[in-house]
Amino acid sequence: MIEIKDLHKSYKIGKNSLHVLKGINFNVKEGELVAIMGSSGSGKSTLLNILGMLDVADEGTYTLDNFPIKDLDETKAAKYRNKFLGFIFQSFNLINYKSALENVALPLYYQKVPRKERNETALRYLEKVGLADWATHLPSELSGGQKQRIAIARALAAQPKVLLADEPTGALDSTTSYEVMQLIQEINDDGKTILVVTHEDDIAKMCKRVVILKDGVIIEDKFVDQVRASDHV
Ligand code: ADP
Ligand code: MG
Repeated sequence: MIEIKDLHKSYKIGKNSLHVLKGINFNVKEGELVAIMGSSGSGKSTLLNILGMLDVADEGTYTLDNFPIKDLDETKAAKYRNKFLGFIFQSFNLINYKSALENVALPLYYQKVPRKERNETALRYLEKVGLADWATHLPSELSGGQKQRIAIARALAAQPKVLLADEPTGALDSTTSYEVMQLIQEINDDGKTILVVTHEDDIAKMCKRVVILKDGVIIEDKFVDQVRASDHV
């Protein structure tokens, strides 16, 4: 699903340049649940943003679902992004003046899905994350965990091939984090390919594979015995 070879990325800061990714190689197969770990500043978000086509690498190749991602103009990049990728962020990034249902329906609006179908689909995804009863509520009326569930439903509504989550539990307490990860596991069980950036061991352990970034390279890439919901009862 994802193939990256010798990826490099530097940021220019004034006259200086900060070399953040120094030759990243890795592949992700369809249906994997991968944690990307590393200390703060190790380049996790930089890597995820490149994978999410929100940023471009300076060097190296990136192939997503057999499409080489290179030299795309913004219109084409946006099209690929909408078709292939769903995003989940630490800060949820919900639209505050829109209801839960409207937030989930938003990607479908951009895909020009007619209103009735949009709302039906959005409701189905709200059901999937256990929040159908909250459809008409605003984000301000929801807890952090509920907001993240809404964000997950929104990401899924566009039926992306890959879900990219940057510290999805970073703003949540440990019980809620665990529940959100449990939902992410369920979505992965349904076959979705998911990458989760985290600096927390407990979160990484709930993934099937853990990739560790340090000093701009991958220092470890291992498959693990995933901690499952049933392990906790
Ligand atoms: P992580 O997500 O692992 O904490 P980041 O990918 O956000 O790390 O950042 C890696 C390094 O690149 C950090 O030193 C950060 O300060 C720097 N950095 C990130 N984004 C930018 C940017 N847009 N401009 C300049 N430096 C950046
Ligand atoms: Mg980050």
